[in-house]
Formats: sequence, C-alpha cells, structure tokens
Amino acid sequence: MAEKTIRDRLHETVDAAASLLYPITCPSCDVPLPSSRVPLPICDDCGAGMSRIAPPYCRVCGQAYEGAMSADFQCSNCADRKLAFDFAIGGYAAEGLLRQLMHRFKYEQNIYLAQLLGRLLESTLTDKRIVGKDWILVPVPLHRRRFRNRGFNQAVELCRVLKKRNPKRFQVKKAIRRVRHTPRQAGLDREQRLSNLRGAFALSRFGNMAETLVGKRILLVDDVLTTGATASECGRVLRNSADIAEIGVITVLRG
Ligand SMILES: [Zn+2]
Ligand SMILES: [Zn+2]
Repeated sequence: MAEKTIRDRLHETVDAAASLLYPITCPSCDVPLPSSRVPLPICDDCGAGMSRIAPPYCRVCGQAYEGAMSADFQCSNCADRKLAFDFAIGGYAAEGLLRQLMHRFKYEQNIYLAQLLGRLLESTLTDKRIVGKDWILVPVPLHRRRFRNRGFNQAVELCRVLKKRNPKRFQVKKAIRRVRHTPRQAGLDREQRLSNLRGAFALSRFGNMAETLVGKRILLVDDVLTTGATASECGRVLRNSADIAEIGVITVLRG
C-alpha cells in the first residue's frame, strides 16, 4: 500500500470539514436525513424525481429509447459517426432536479454534491460490459483557465468518490490534459462540437502515460454526455497514443 500523500491527507481533512459544514440534509429540499442514508444523501421524494436510464439504450452512445428494442442496437444519432470509444453509459436523464443539482455542483462551487453525484454515477458500473474487469478511470480534463475559475474539476471529484468506494477495483490516472481552451459546447450542433474540440486534448506528459496505458481498459469519466463529442475526442487521443484494450465512457447524466 502506498504511503498517503500530503494531498490525500488534505482531501481527508477537507472531507471531514465538509461533513461538519454541511449537515446531512437533502440537497434539494433541505429536509434532514437520517445519518444511515449517507452516502446517498437525498430524500425519497426528491429521489423519486430522478429518472435512471435503463435499457434499451444504444450500445454505443447510451442514448435511451422507449419501448421494446433488441438489447444490441445502435441509434441513428451515432450510426453514421465514428466515435473513438467502445461504449458510453449515462446514469440518469439530464432533466429537472438532477440538472439543477449538477449546475449547483459545477457552477456554484457546491463541491459536496460530488458525494451524491458520484453515488449516482456508480449505478453505471452494473453494466455487464464493465462488471468483472479491471479499469483505469480517466477524468475528462478541464482547461487550466476553467479549472482556475471553478477551483476543481468535476470529473476528478467524481473519480475520487468512485475510487474511495471501490479502492481495489479502480486506478485513477489523469491521463489526458486539455491543451486548448474551447468555447462552451452548449448550443452547438454535432458537427460544430467536433470541430470546436479538434486538437483540444493531448496525452499527459507525466508518468510515461502511453506505456502505462498499453493493453489496459479505460473508463473515461465525466459529468454529462450529450453528443459524445468530448469523450470521443479524448478517446481519439488515447487510441493514438497507445494500443488500448477497451475504452468505455461513464457519466452521471445523459443529455
Ligand atoms: Zn428532498
Ligand atoms: Zn447511439
């Protein structure tokens, strides 16, 4: 077991302080929650308003479909595109309460929401393509300018929650860095998103990353997947850098 780094100790202290600062109440309606509810800190009423994405969904991009469908279909959203990952799974629909909570997490510095959102992300890990294999979690990176404004990378925080709850199952590697600041993707169509992102990512310069990743299975982690353009661009960087066994994408929300 590796020695705890100063950073680990700092995170532990921050976590402990956060649990004092934020007593256990539902993050949406503020009703007190019994402590046994942690770490899925949300009340039943608010929890009932979240819609889990259940099969059938597209085997490539995770797009959910209503009604009966064979388990193995690919949707029209991605059938004509070459996405540089093998599959993507979103935990919950990006609507209503969860959309608001994600907004508060990312844009209003409510970093404690990582606990709830990380637990919701965990629901993707029961997919049969993920179960029973070793994975390296790779957070989708932020550009340093956005990181400075926000103070944290939401994907890194989500990875931390998964790692903490599944210490043997996952390694976390910040394998990709963002080399170009790009305008927000919101409001852009599929083609614009892809060209907006071209050249935005590169492999990390640290730790012989290409060598480390050879033959490995990678799960890219992000808060939300919409068209899959960001994840695909990250997947392309990974595939161009090393011979990788499999690349999956897991997100809390599916847009
Ligand atoms: Zn509530
Ligand atoms: Zn699809």
